[in-house]
Amino acid sequence: MTSQEIRKRFLAFFEERQHTIVPSAPMVIKDDPTLMFTNAGMNQFKEYFLGNRKPVALRVTDSQKCLRVSGKHNDLEEVGKDTYHHTMFEMLGNWSFGDYFKKEAIAWAWELLTEEFKIDKDRLYVTYFEGSSDDGLREDAEAYKLWAGIVPEERIIPGSKKDNFWEMGDQGPCGPCSEIHIDIRTEEERDRIPGRELVNKDHPQVVEIWNLVFMEFNRKADGSLEKLPAKHVDTGMGFERLCMVLQGVRSNYDTDVFTPLIREIEAITNSRYGKEEKTDIAVRVIADHVRAVAFAIADGQLPSNTGAGYVIRRILRRAIRYGFTFLNQKEPFIYKLVDTLSNQMHQAFPEIKSQKNLVVNVIKEEEQSFLKTLDQGLVLLETIISAAKDNHVSGAKAFELYDTYGFPIDLTALILSEKGYGLDQEGFEKELQKQKERSRAATSVTTGDWVVLAEDAEEEFVGYDMLDTRVKITRYRAVSSKKDGEMYQVVFNLTPFYPEGGGQVGDKGYIESADGDVAYIIDTKKENNLIVHFAKSLPRNIEGSFKAVVDKNQRRRTSANHSATHLLHQALRKVLGDHVEQKGSMVHNDHLRFDFSHFSKVSPEELQAVEDFVNARIREQLPLEEKRNIPYHQAIEEGAMALFGEKYGDTVRSIRFGESMELCGGTHVQNTADIWHFIITGESAVAAGIRRIEAITLDAAKEYFTSQSDTFREVKTVLKNAKDPVKAIVALQEENNTLKKQVDSLLKAKAKNLKGELMAKLEEVNGARFLAARVDLDPSVVKDLAFDMGKGLKNLFVLFAAEHEGKALLTCYISKELAEEKSLNAGQVVRELGKLIQGGGGGQAFFATAGGKNPGGIPQVLEKAREFVK
Ligand code: ATP
Ligand code: MG
Repeated sequence: MTSQEIRKRFLAFFEERQHTIVPSAPMVIKDDPTLMFTNAGMNQFKEYFLGNRKPVALRVTDSQKCLRVSGKHNDLEEVGKDTYHHTMFEMLGNWSFGDYFKKEAIAWAWELLTEEFKIDKDRLYVTYFEGSSDDGLREDAEAYKLWAGIVPEERIIPGSKKDNFWEMGDQGPCGPCSEIHIDIRTEEERDRIPGRELVNKDHPQVVEIWNLVFMEFNRKADGSLEKLPAKHVDTGMGFERLCMVLQGVRSNYDTDVFTPLIREIEAITNSRYGKEEKTDIAVRVIADHVRAVAFAIADGQLPSNTGAGYVIRRILRRAIRYGFTFLNQKEPFIYKLVDTLSNQMHQAFPEIKSQKNLVVNVIKEEEQSFLKTLDQGLVLLETIISAAKDNHVSGAKAFELYDTYGFPIDLTALILSEKGYGLDQEGFEKELQKQKERSRAATSVTTGDWVVLAEDAEEEFVGYDMLDTRVKITRYRAVSSKKDGEMYQVVFNLTPFYPEGGGQVGDKGYIESADGDVAYIIDTKKENNLIVHFAKSLPRNIEGSFKAVVDKNQRRRTSANHSATHLLHQALRKVLGDHVEQKGSMVHNDHLRFDFSHFSKVSPEELQAVEDFVNARIREQLPLEEKRNIPYHQAIEEGAMALFGEKYGDTVRSIRFGESMELCGGTHVQNTADIWHFIITGESAVAAGIRRIEAITLDAAKEYFTSQSDTFREVKTVLKNAKDPVKAIVALQEENNTLKKQVDSLLKAKAKNLKGELMAKLEEVNGARFLAARVDLDPSVVKDLAFDMGKGLKNLFVLFAAEHEGKALLTCYISKELAEEKSLNAGQVVRELGKLIQGGGGGQAFFATAGGKNPGGIPQVLEKAREFVK
């Protein structure tokens, strides 16, 4: 059975049992501060469990792209070393939202594995939660009983809180679970040690394949558990592990999910998989990581220096490093695997094909730049090694290499050990720990529990139509961080405040009680489906009703920028071509920023065409045509553009201005004329194949024009109100050039005269032709003068002192034979004399210069110079 078939049959099995098949949510999470990446199938349904939102259907099934590289679930260091943990993997799942519970979940799981997929029952073990005194929870006797009805008792194993109580993170929905494990060892191995003893013992051939979670609780900030409004089922089966079992192989990497990638890696790197452990680990790391990175980029997360982008960059760098060290790859090669990956996965995940070009380009550029870092790091490491005492490199040095230059520590360790040098690993760890604590202290946020004033499942957003309305507070909580200090997050029963999203900043404003008590809202954000308002203080009477007022001016400017962003998107596709896709957007009240895929710099002519296009739409005065709550398919059929990596619900909102039509949740102007004018202020590169345009509209554009015309007026005034200022400036430039030439030739003539005068002043001192004189000329002229004199004369010792732009400059020239004969050194002379002008300098034995800040010392310098030839 191919992996494609396995995925299909899983979904079909639950579809036959009245489950609705839903698509995978994007792997990159954008609106949950507690989670960067989807780490389990249940993430996208979290709000259903908490009762904050009504589910689309009571039974759902899907295959979810997961990434476990940060936070509570982090498998990164295992990946490649073992054969069954991945960074990115697919989690097959079936869900019940307050519908069926343990009985059906257990029965269907068993039926699917043993009847549909015909897995040998003797190789399966199941676990159940044994209870936990910490949480005051008893053992899950219900699950035990249900299992006992279908599985022999010796195959049912009690499990601890660690393995059998599933939690998404430190807070959130959770509950006891039952796992299904499989033993795929050979008969002999199984005879020697019973599988039962190896369950949950990290044995690579006795692994968990499916976890059935019975969601009943919500873990609160203080660690306590609270009952959820209803009981739910959340199951997760590792797709790649299931493929391993059904395809009769002993490693996930031997399934058809990975073999095409591995063959490709072997071909590109000229290595063989399955011969030597070190090579094998490297091959697995690369085959695994390219998937994670490619899917993250396709989901819209580019590698970067912070947050989720940094995690992606680190995964890719781990792969590059393994290729570099163990497969001897000194040139980019991982990007070449994307083609194979796309061929293999595009049926289930079409984004990997449509975004292929971008993914390839981004990976290639990352590889190039990191390989350069590695090269530089190797050079630096060489210098560190040559300076090292007692064949030992300190932790601090290694940390500097790691922290400042991005050079991986394990590579440092490897190179050092190859050269017979020791590394203070402990010292390194200490430095690393210190750095971690510094950044944790800077970013740590403590979040209190919600204080719920009124149960209210859905907080309605009314801000498309109203900028003020009456609201009541339904819940609030305190948050504090080093960065922002103490603050409150407040949720209303309905709100006119737009929460940050789709690139648009959150609204600001205030709420006011009937007796005039005001609390300012300084930002608004979405957290899952709650609209959270940030306030520095709470109103005195929390339970009262309030007038909620959005800052109209900011909203007006932000809306203009958002509508302009749509027109810009349309213009770019018209002017540059259909390959242009939105890759990021930032809509502020004073400017907008738009990132898009395009493979070369946008020329000034193209930029002009784009700007003109947008301004033409503004002048056409196109009215806003908005459709809310229309089915996704209808909107797409009508021609609306959807974005990759964006999670759309079943119903969407479409925004149309003339021929521009996009799915969008943001706020917009009523008519393009309200944008007033659109000006591009910048164009730059963000990453390989991604360009950025910055622009302004409305008030910012007006301010721009005003300041331009102010500057112009000033220029005219300075030019004495010349009729044609440009002509006047050109004339001035020409005049300036002529004058410069005249000054140059005058200076040359003066230097010539000066040379004559100076030659006359030469004195015979101790066999040297000596001169110390003050010549206040440009340094380069002084130098020429000294060399000029030296050309024709032997045994010359010249010291010139000059005052130039408020500083003192010394120039010393000594004929070579004189310098040798008398062991004179011009460098030493200027250093010595430099002290008198409060400065220093140096050079060669026959020519040196010095500078200092005290021109007052020049007479002394001239006097003292003589001493060197005496
Ligand atoms: P394990 O103990 O093997 O790490 P887990 O307890 O972390 O598994 P769950 O969080 O219960 O796993 O996830 C549900 C299922 O997802 C697991 O039964 C397993 O089949 C699969 N799975 C979990 N982590 C990974 C991973 N890193 N790579 C591939 N599959 C995984
Ligand atoms: Mg795990």
